[in-house]
Amino acid sequence: MTSEKDYLATLKRARKNLPAHVFEKSRFQIPKADVFKEGNKTWITDWGRILKILNRESESDHLAKHLAREFATSSTEERGRLCLQGKFSGTMINRELETYVKEFVLCEECGKPDTKLAKEGRILIKVCEACGARGAVK
Ligand SMILES: [Zn+2]
Repeated sequence: MTSEKDYLATLKRARKNLPAHVFEKSRFQIPKADVFKEGNKTWITDWGRILKILNRESESDHLAKHLAREFATSSTEERGRLCLQGKFSGTMINRELETYVKEFVLCEECGKPDTKLAKEGRILIKVCEACGARGAVK
């Protein structure tokens, strides 16, 4: 019996071997964040729009925490905007957004963004509502 860690490592390896065209099948465009720097804060001013496009309005916390962790800072959501403590360029933020979408939003099987995140025990699963594919994410 393989451990949970081995299982996740195998999934990760499998994902790495996926050809790039898996992601290109879909005409879905990863949204670009509008970034506004104010003092020592960086705002994503179209946060609400991004969540809507990604179908993550009820799971905005997951994306907010992901960004905060990648930039080693904290985030707060405020009236449809996200505030990150610190100064970050639009390029940096959009690069992380893209990484997040590929890992947590796009389906690895059909490339569509019609997915939901669900918990199975301690493992986070990405479930595709378009093709039914299920896969663990980290
Ligand atoms: Zn799918």
